[in-house]
Amino acid sequence: MVTHSSKWTIATLGSHSALQILKGAQDEGFKTLAICKKGTEKVYKQFGVADKIITVNDYMDLLKIQDKLIKDNVIIIPHASFIAYMGPSNVEKLKIPYFGTKKILEHESDRNKEKKWLEGAGCVMPLIFDKPEDIDRPVIVKFHGAGGGKGYFLARDTADFKVKIKRHSGKKYTIQEYILGVHMYAHYFHSPLTGETEILGFDKRYESNVDSIGRISARDQMALPEEKVDPSYVIVGNIPVVVRESYLPRFLEMGEDVVTVSKKIAGRGLYGPFCLECVITPEGEIYVFEISARIVAGTNPYIHGSPYSWLRYDEPMSTGRRIAREINNALKDDKLKEVLE
Ligand code: ATP
Repeated sequence: MVTHSSKWTIATLGSHSALQILKGAQDEGFKTLAICKKGTEKVYKQFGVADKIITVNDYMDLLKIQDKLIKDNVIIIPHASFIAYMGPSNVEKLKIPYFGTKKILEHESDRNKEKKWLEGAGCVMPLIFDKPEDIDRPVIVKFHGAGGGKGYFLARDTADFKVKIKRHSGKKYTIQEYILGVHMYAHYFHSPLTGETEILGFDKRYESNVDSIGRISARDQMALPEEKVDPSYVIVGNIPVVVRESYLPRFLEMGEDVVTVSKKIAGRGLYGPFCLECVITPEGEIYVFEISARIVAGTNPYIHGSPYSWLRYDEPMSTGRRIAREINNALKDDKLKEVLE
């Protein structure tokens, strides 16, 4: 076993949070590799985060080149686009050293399993309506496999749902209670080496067109065709947030409990970065509507660290760097198997 970071290469697909992952790996003394789709290499070259770039026609080509990467001591760091492009079943089949618990993927992608997991950890979740006829409050209708909130719509009752769903015939969907409050995405890191769950930051999302509708008056909204003013939730960026300090104990407890339950349902459980996607109501209730069991793009504003990571580490510590630090610590203690699958 090679125990020095410079003998290992940290790799990821060139998208999502790759800049941060690769920069963090370089800062921790690793070599870095970006696996890029033709035409996207320029960015990874320009920012100098990739010591090597491999260009592929399709991200699935990773399956074809993985034997060579294994020989070259490459470790893969997954991000959301990585899982979306490869698909959970291909990710499970990967032989290349991988940072994260693959078994957790099914508990994240299956809404019933996700609900059991999060509610089992004491998280309050929005109600799910099995049938449109049951809708008795405002709901958000989410399509399965939707690319980041595309086409999601709000409905105030069953009749409204029936009119709006006509534009989406044939698609699979979930009807979820719409929680009125502010969105808060909490970023965590669980260390399998120390057993500690850390808060690394918070963000809110910048979504089109829901974040722009408020810029036009109600009178002008009324004048527009319905499909133009119906909110959609297409993510286009992330904005850093600091949460009111009195919420921190609850956020920390939620992160810890989610990890504890994950250990009962998925092998050695959730570790590394994860995110609880929340809405906080005016009454101070924190609803969790989703979990991301890996690095989220909302950590990207914190390449030089967040206020929380600064308090804790007193040195620039992005989530990407925290991943590399964990692998580094594992290498030093000869515990690499504890952080890789
Ligand atoms: P991702 O997988 O990237 O998190 P997604 O496609 O699964 O995205 P969601 O995160 O579930 O989509 O939802 C998209 C957006 O819709 C959220 O950022 C939030 O603005 C809004 N949203 C989702 N669920 C609710 C809810 N129950 N109440 C209020 N707003 C919600």
